Amino acid sequence: MFRWRWYFLSLLLGFLFTAHAHAQSGFVYLLPHQDDEMFLAGSIAHNVQAGKKVYAVIVTDGSASKVFGWLNQLAKSTRAVDCLKNQCRGFPGQLLTPLTIRQFIEARNREFIASMETLGVPRSHIILANTSSTLEADHNSFRDGHLTVPAASTLIRELSKELGMETFVTLISDPTHPEHPDHRTLSIALQNASEIKDKIFYSEDPIYSLPIKLSLAERRAKIKALDQYFVWNPKQGRYAIAAHSVRKLLLAWQYRHFEYVL
Ligand SMILES: [Zn+2]
Repeated sequence: MFRWRWYFLSLLLGFLFTAHAHAQSGFVYLLPHQDDEMFLAGSIAHNVQAGKKVYAVIVTDGSASKVFGWLNQLAKSTRAVDCLKNQCRGFPGQLLTPLTIRQFIEARNREFIASMETLGVPRSHIILANTSSTLEADHNSFRDGHLTVPAASTLIRELSKELGMETFVTLISDPTHPEHPDHRTLSIALQNASEIKDKIFYSEDPIYSLPIKLSLAERRAKIKALDQYFVWNPKQGRYAIAAHSVRKLLLAWQYRHFEYVL
């Protein structure tokens, strides 16, 4: 099963990109969950605005969010719903229908794609590693909270081979934060990846990190991109999922003038 997954991912990537014998100047952003770009979207904006090649990869399926249960609880009611906690933007007063976990994952991916496209990353450079995993019975390695180092390492190796980009970027978590096991797993896999020439690790914690000041254009792009996580329009499959699960954190990072590299 595992081999088939990579076979299909390779076919897809092979179709989109020709093989590269040498690493090219460009960036691959590895994001553990949908909305994690809040910590580095200014960097993505910077590279897009500089005309660099940028790829964005969402790794886990984001299925562990508590918003899944909240939405399905509300779907039992026959009342039109504005938004779960009155913090959405968009189209109030809509009836909800129950979501399967698969539909919920797709809705999270939709938010991520909208955010990346707003930053200027073309759809063909947005890679959903989590989708190939959830299509199969054996999807544990990319399930939210269950990412494994071997699965992340294989993904990085395949991406490096197919995309041929020089620089890989991800987040690094403080090991004392047990709530982010996928962040830590992904950062370990990238640290171990000997085939990658340049590696950049963005930190969620300003302490001991190097602050990078965002330009006005980068901040504007970041604010617009993260606004996508507040869009409420159930008819279009938009449920402001990140805005409900991590609202304070999202707002704080959306308007911050700095990002932090370790
Ligand atoms: Zn995350």
